[in-house]
Amino acid sequence: AAKRLEGKTIVITGASSGIGRSCAFEFARTAPRDLRLVLTARRADRLREIADQIRAEVGDGVRVLPLELDVSDPDQVRGFVDRLPEEFRAVDVLVNNAGLVKGVARAPEIAEADMNIMFQTNVTGLINMTQAILPIFKARPDGGAGDIINIGSIAGREPYAGGSIYCATKAAVRAFTDALRKELIDTRIRVMEIDPGQVETEFSIVRYYGDKAKADAVYAGCDPLTPDDIAEVVVFVASRRQNVVVADTLVFPSHQA
Ligand code: NDP
Repeated sequence: AAKRLEGKTIVITGASSGIGRSCAFEFARTAPRDLRLVLTARRADRLREIADQIRAEVGDGVRVLPLELDVSDPDQVRGFVDRLPEEFRAVDVLVNNAGLVKGVARAPEIAEADMNIMFQTNVTGLINMTQAILPIFKARPDGGAGDIINIGSIAGREPYAGGSIYCATKAAVRAFTDALRKELIDTRIRVMEIDPGQVETEFSIVRYYGDKAKADAVYAGCDPLTPDDIAEVVVFVASRRQNVVVADTLVFPSHQA
């Protein structure tokens, strides 16, 4: 697996915490000899800390670039590739992980700002990032090559009351991913989706507008996944033989079955 990742350039969105952060470490630990990692999110200070931690742990074989990027801002996403230094420009893998849920509300009470930020981040942001990176993939021989790994959610398959907008965004990710895979069937570009169930991250803190006590209560009495559990799957799908597409994976803790 390590050999197949060597020499690759990997872009991760939402790398400042949770699953995205774990993916950065998991890629670096799996291919510590020769890898380039572009870590993006809005909180650049966090990205710099993570980059330092990765360098301290695995050494110089992994080149890490922390880059501030708000995926919900189409202008920033459009300019993203131009901001990449030459060394990081030949992107091989895009992990579209940035995403959030805001609020728990029945449809009539959903705040417009919450609805907008969820769609602009989880859906438009993911699509815009994909469009920004695809020309790099398409420029390669045989119609193109590269990996797009979208982080969806069990919520996109099994919508729940009080989460209609978040669930709708993740259903949209699913539809976009499936359609894109079909559009790229004649290329060596792999389009894959991983749908986590409950994972303990900062996700629920964001859901409850920063109220950590409410977030902790979500996980009380159950045994959620850790972000590393998902990162291991992300690295697994990225490190299969080029002809192997692990298209669609649902990963949840046993209590959620
Ligand atoms: P976290 O809140 O821990 O991480 C979310 C990441 O997304 C952060 O790094 C955050 O960085 C980033 N992010 C949010 N908005 C933006 C933006 N506009 N631009 C760039 N980055 C952004 O949660 P998770 O790790 O759990 O979430 C990661 C993904 O996993 C999400 O897509 C989520 O929907 C999905 N997921 C999570 C589940 C769970 O139970 N935790 C279950 C199923 C799916 P910053 O704030 O610095 O920008």
